[in-house]
Amino acid sequence: MDSDIIIVGGGPAGLSTALHLVQKNPQWAERVLVLEKAVYPRPKLCGGGVTRPGLDILTGLGLSLTPPHVWVKDVFFRYRDLAYKLESNPAFAVVSRQIFDAWLADEARKRGIAIREGVEVIDVRADEAGVTVFTTGGRLRSRALVAADGSNSIVRRKLKWGAGRKALLLEVITPAGENEEYLIRGAATFDWSVLDDGVEGYYWDFPTPSENEAQQINRGVFHSRVYAHRPRPPLRQALAQMLAIRGLNLDDYPLKGHPIHWFSPGDALARPRVLLVGDAAGADPLLGEGISFALGYGQVAADALDAAFATGEFRFADYDQRVREHWLLKQLLARHLGAAIAFGSMRYDWVERGLWRIAPGLFRIMAQIRPDYFPLDNRQMTPVSDD
Ligand SMILES: Cc1cc2nc3c(=O)[nH]c(=O)nc-3n(C[C@H](O)[C@H](O)[C@H](O)COP(=O)(O)OP(=O)(O)OC[C@H]3O[C@@H](n4cnc5c(N)ncnc54)[C@H](O)[C@@H]3O)c2cc1C
Repeated sequence: MDSDIIIVGGGPAGLSTALHLVQKNPQWAERVLVLEKAVYPRPKLCGGGVTRPGLDILTGLGLSLTPPHVWVKDVFFRYRDLAYKLESNPAFAVVSRQIFDAWLADEARKRGIAIREGVEVIDVRADEAGVTVFTTGGRLRSRALVAADGSNSIVRRKLKWGAGRKALLLEVITPAGENEEYLIRGAATFDWSVLDDGVEGYYWDFPTPSENEAQQINRGVFHSRVYAHRPRPPLRQALAQMLAIRGLNLDDYPLKGHPIHWFSPGDALARPRVLLVGDAAGADPLLGEGISFALGYGQVAADALDAAFATGEFRFADYDQRVREHWLLKQLLARHLGAAIAFGSMRYDWVERGLWRIAPGLFRIMAQIRPDYFPLDNRQMTPVSDD
């Protein structure tokens, strides 16, 4: 064995798994190897919004958010002429993923975790005694393997797990547009008007930390594809229209796209010797949120791995249940249901409009029933006028 545990992928899910193992017992540091195909700081297409549960997980690991970030206090939800504001202090933080992931990797290294950068996993085989990992740097063997290699997971592919269901996202970084100083001061927008174009999702504006003085705005569209049989909506056009409203021309900025593999309740997340975490396991199909969930998967995987090595039982038969019962990951099931309802009802204009009219009331009731699902200071959406 080259290592007891090999973690494929050094994003938030893989690094959180390693950090939680070492938190359980510092001796894990010598028994874990993280393989990362890129070299930090590596680019990662992402809005960078880290919600409070993710920040709490970092705090639990003894980490305070030192990389540059913008606190978002006001979140605007829009649908056609309806607009609501959610105030919280903060609702979430926005980071640059390039810097955030490099910082997390540094913190893991400080705790003694070995990370091999520039090593790409190209094949994986699991057998009764362990896992063989074929990489661009040679062959390695471990007792257990954690697939933390994101939405296009090579581990899933090589172990014939199936590609799973994926959302499509387009993203662009621009300067602030007309009358957008409020974004820079710490606000974000989720505009669901793109539902009318057939997009199963929303358009977003996030203030984002940048190296030069002027803060940039990260914008994009999220299309969940929950109803995959429907024709693909014109995503680029929907994004271009939203930018045009802000006085910006999409052609002036480099446009990038990436999928998010989302959580489906029926999918198995473990096999003997192998665990899936983060996007490889599945993110949120309603909002496309994945960073906090990736950090949460790390907690669950560390518990499951620690238990497996303590008992010598590597089937991970209870891993799916651990995920379903985890204080944060159990939200994935609710979000799955939410996505099916929200994107199912968009076919019926009067239902969609009705739902948006009663959204603040629905939100208040849900927040009262499940306050743990809404870890915010203020659980009220208040109507706002367009100015
Ligand atoms: C456009 C866009 C915007 C988003 N905005 C947000 C947001 O604002 N908030 C939010 O919470 N989520 C957002 N997400 C989702 C979020 O980016 C992911 O959920 C999150 O990155 C998942 O973390 P992860 O560690 O599972 O995977 P990743 O962050 O993708 O990390 C996987 C790592 O594995 C490495 N890797 C891949 N293949 C191999 C290999 N073969 N060998 C070795 N290493 C490998 C990669 O280099 C990478 O470092 C967004 C996603 C997209 C596409």
